[in-house]
Amino acid sequence: MAIDRIVNTTVSDDDAEEQRVEITLRPQNFDEYVGQERLKKNLELAIAAAKKRGEPIDHVLLYGPPGLGKTTMANVIANEMGVGFRVTAGPAIERAGDLASILTNLSDGDILFIDEIHRLSRAVEEVLYSAMEDFKLDIVIGKGPAARSIRLDLPRFTVIGATTRTGSLAAPLRDRFGHLYRLEFYTPSEISTIITRAARILKANIQPASAKVLSTRARLTPRIANRLLKRVRDYADINGDGIIDTRMTEKALALLEIDELGLDPADRQMLNSILQNYGEKPVGLSTIAALTGDEQTTIEDFYEPYLMQIGFIERTPRGRVVTNKAKRHLDFPDHSEKKV
Ligand code: ADP
Repeated sequence: MAIDRIVNTTVSDDDAEEQRVEITLRPQNFDEYVGQERLKKNLELAIAAAKKRGEPIDHVLLYGPPGLGKTTMANVIANEMGVGFRVTAGPAIERAGDLASILTNLSDGDILFIDEIHRLSRAVEEVLYSAMEDFKLDIVIGKGPAARSIRLDLPRFTVIGATTRTGSLAAPLRDRFGHLYRLEFYTPSEISTIITRAARILKANIQPASAKVLSTRARLTPRIANRLLKRVRDYADINGDGIIDTRMTEKALALLEIDELGLDPADRQMLNSILQNYGEKPVGLSTIAALTGDEQTTIEDFYEPYLMQIGFIERTPRGRVVTNKAKRHLDFPDHSEKKV
């Protein structure tokens, strides 16, 4: 579901350069991981306790919008525990047999990271939560009257699940997680630190004032911050001497059509078309999807979280409402004023 937007929070499988940079920039331990202080504090405690007892850490569910550092945190946990790290994703585990082969290949203490865990099929979910509960795997061998069920012992492993929506997870699966944490949007100052760190690793020459400008344009999301840094560096390399000063930064952002709040043309178009067609009335998700031509999940996962965070969209029981704050930002004529 890769959407062609600079502010897109996914990494497409076919963009090898993007994947490579993601790996290079990924913090490896708690010290390098910027922000999310509450999460870090809780996990540091859980890890210290697990290590003291010589046991694996309890299963962890991380949720929140894409690009906020769920995969990164899972990797940090594995490093801090000093255990193996296996990565898979909900849609990649099609049948219960696929999961069985992943689980039987784990070693004691390993962490199994399952991205998009809400996309596991019900059948796979069932196998997973019984394995998480008692580290046993029930499998059926053979077919028809000759079929018999055997129970395999599994190594003691930890599942770290990542999801953009906990609501889509079956309750029995959700209940198997001992730790459930929501990742929050970052503050501009944390994003600025992330940009400065990334610039150091990428050997990009960015001035502090430019890091500050970028930090307000990156939708409070590390993945977008890193991506904007790369685009601005390209611009400064081609149109200047490689030094990323504020003039270069502003010009590059103008070229990308990213405004002072980090909105891109797709956001503005969506907000404008809701306002033009429905004004102040609440609109359903399916209507918004029809207006923009996107999937509903794209609206929910990519557009909405940030627009709600900055107070441009509110969720009401009857649908989404575009706020006056958004109208002012878009210079949209105020309906109530027009009536006077
Ligand atoms: P998610 O799994 O939530 O979609 P990722 O963990 O893949 O997000 O994070 C995207 C990128 O953002 C990572 O490659 C990493 O470079 C950067 N990143 C995420 N969180 C942090 C952080 N707390 N500090 C520094 N960089 C981060």
